[in-house]
Order: sequence, then structure tokens, then C-alpha cells
Amino acid sequence: MRPPMKPLKPLDEALADLLGHAVPLAGADTVTTFDADGRVLAQECSSVLHVPPQDNSSMDGYAVRCADVTASGAELPVSQRIAAGSAGAPLQPGTAARIFTGAPVPEGADAVLMQEDCEALDGLEEGRVRINAVPRPGQWIRRAGEDITRGAVVLQAGTRLTPAELGLAASIGLHQLQVARRPRVALFSTGDELVMPGDVPPEQMRPGAIYNSNRFFLRAMLLRLGCEVTDFGIVPDRRDATIDALRQAGAAHDLILTSGGVSVGEEDHIKPAVQALGTLDLWQIAMKPGKPFAYGQIPREKGSAHFMGLPGNPVSSFLTFALLVRPFVLRLQGVQDVAPQSIAVRADFTWPKADKRREFLRVRHNAMGGLDLFNNQSSGVLTSAAWGDGVVDNPAGQTIEPGDTVQFIAFSELLS
Ligand code: AMP
Ligand code: MG
Repeated sequence: MRPPMKPLKPLDEALADLLGHAVPLAGADTVTTFDADGRVLAQECSSVLHVPPQDNSSMDGYAVRCADVTASGAELPVSQRIAAGSAGAPLQPGTAARIFTGAPVPEGADAVLMQEDCEALDGLEEGRVRINAVPRPGQWIRRAGEDITRGAVVLQAGTRLTPAELGLAASIGLHQLQVARRPRVALFSTGDELVMPGDVPPEQMRPGAIYNSNRFFLRAMLLRLGCEVTDFGIVPDRRDATIDALRQAGAAHDLILTSGGVSVGEEDHIKPAVQALGTLDLWQIAMKPGKPFAYGQIPREKGSAHFMGLPGNPVSSFLTFALLVRPFVLRLQGVQDVAPQSIAVRADFTWPKADKRREFLRVRHNAMGGLDLFNNQSSGVLTSAAWGDGVVDNPAGQTIEPGDTVQFIAFSELLS
């Protein structure tokens, strides 16, 4: 008789268990703000100045006192010229200041007129100006501190830096930033059927061989998450070889990530190999594609390396990485909010057969704003992931009719 099936583990429970092990890595790097894109901030950044530092003009034109221009057609002598980068003097009552975008508004001025509303008389910039409009107090003035006030926390520790945040850090004068150290990840694939593209041309592939595709997307996803990746290549389906590779990888890495060999077939050597060196939990996760997933720890001289074993089927590998490994790797770097955002979108397809497991269907937006379904949802069909722009997170037992609202997770939430 076959042993009774272990109950499936809900995905949320698997993720919570994993995150429970994701103690942020000790140590930070100091990098220049130029080089900080994609890194995770290890310090809180607050501003010691206002941004912008002073009231400044948002137009090329003339700065005035509104009290001096109560009707259209007023003529004023131009008493000074203030370009961006220079400071100007207090505005004498009854005069206008020629001013340019970004230049500080002189003390005493309370509005700027755009030059299209003004006429330089005598053709001279510093002669007289006729103002063909009535200014409103404050118009075309960008206020000091409008973007950031002095003392404000601008970026929280744990923020994943994107180009906008780099600019923001620079705007408060930070030329270097403390960021979390890069997680060191060892990557290897298992399976005697695997061949590296480039090693054997397609026309010479032996029967039963396939190209190793997982290695390419897993490496790329790890790099996008800021990891340093050591690629251990393909490990043969032998217990001794698997143990050797794990021991070597465990010595110098924070995480060992493998794909393949975590089912419970005879050729699946990951489980006994990790157990020979450390501890391992083999989970059957209630997700489709996905299901087999292993988490373990391999002790070394100081501490231990995390181990994660992904299923071999490419789409299963891809999605278990996106939904489980990605949040873990971000948390190692100190990111708090690691949950991908899902949004409600209209399904323009039918999914007639409900599954017992929570499903992640590869879909793509159409021009009507609804979602189309890729025509083959098999866990081996990687084309579905390349074709799609995200997945529908479909609860267990749920069929879908055209017009139904479904929860969509964009690949931008899962792959960046
Ligand atoms: P496994 O999890 O080792 O039982 O593998 C499940 C399926 O995924 C098998 O059809 C394998 O050939 C395939 N597979 C495993 N690893 C890879 C890989 N790195 N690239 C492409 N397919 C793979
Ligand atoms: Mg295998």
C-alpha cells in the first residue's frame, strides 16, 4: 500500500514559514548614489535642507509686487536681472526684476509674470517693462520646501532603490548610501537530461536530452534582486555528486538554490543529500504550477546556509521562485513589504475546470483592458511565461467566466 499523501501546504503558510527564517544579512555596503540602483537602503535618510532651498521662479519672466500691478498695462522700470544660480537683491518697490526659471525670487516680490504676458519696452532688458496681465499673489513661484521640508525623513531603511529614489537622495545632498550587502547565492541545476546551450548544437542532442532553461531565468531573476550569483552548473543525478556540490556551495553562500530533483522519484537526490548535511523540509505546496518545494539549512563553520529546492518543470520553477524565493531574498536585504500587489481585472476568457490547488494562470492584457489566457497552461510550457504579462491568482475550486473579476499579479511585481 502507498503511504498516505501528506496534506498540501497552503502557499501563504509556506511563505510565512520561509520568511520566518529570513533573518536580514549582517553588514552593509557603502556605495555611491550613482551605483545604488536596485540596492536596498540600510539607513534612514532625512534632509538637512529644504528642497527647493528657497522660493524660486517656475517661469522665465518678471518678478513683481502685486501691489504695483493692479491693472493690466502697468509699466515698471526693471531694476535687476536674476538668472538661475544667482541670488539677486531685495526688490525695490515700484520696480520689476527680470527673472529666469529656477532663479530665487527676490525678497519683497510676491508673484512672477511669464514673459509672454510682458513687453520689454525700448527693446532693452533692463529698461522698462509693460505688464499686460494682473498677477495673483504667489503665481509661478515654487515654494521653498515644497518637495521636501528640512528634517523630513525622505527614504526609509529597507527601501528598494529605483531611479526616482536615487534622484531624491541626490536632491538632499547624499552622494553615497549605505545599502544591504548583496546576498551570495549558489545556483545549480540537477538532472542528467540537461545540456547547456552552446555545449551541444541542437542537431547533435542525444535522445532524451533537453537544454537547461531554468538556469537562465533563475540567474537573471537573482541578479535583478541584487544577488551575487555563483553558478555551479549542472550536478549529475548521483547522491555523492549532489552532496559534494552542496557542501562546497554551503561554505561561502547565504542561499543555495537548486532546480529539479525535489519530487519523490528515485532519481531525486536532493532530499537525501541535504539531509546528509543538514536539515530539510520537503513541502507539497497547494499551488499550480508548483507543488514540490524544499527548504533546508546546511550548517557550516559559522552559522548555516539556507537551502531552497525548486521543482524542475520550467514554469513551476519560475513561479515558485517569483512567489517564494523572491520575497525571501528581498527580506534577507531588509525589505519589509515583500508581497506582490494584485489588482482586480476583468477576465476575457473561460477557465471551465476548477482545480483543488490555487492556480497561477499565465495571462496578458488585451487592448480592451481585459485579460486573455495563454492557450497552454502546462507547467512545462515556458512560452506561457514569455507570452504573458502576469498571472491570475485563482483560488482553489474556482472556475472563471468571461466578464468575471479576477486578481491579477503583473510580472513587474514578480520579476523586478
Ligand atoms: P524534476 O523536478 O527533476 O523531476 O524535473 C521535472 C521536469 O522538469 C523534467 O521534465 C525535467 O526534465 C525538467 N527540468 C528539470 N530541470 C530543468 C532545467 N534546468 N531546465 C529545463 N527543464 C528542466
Ligand atoms: Mg530531475
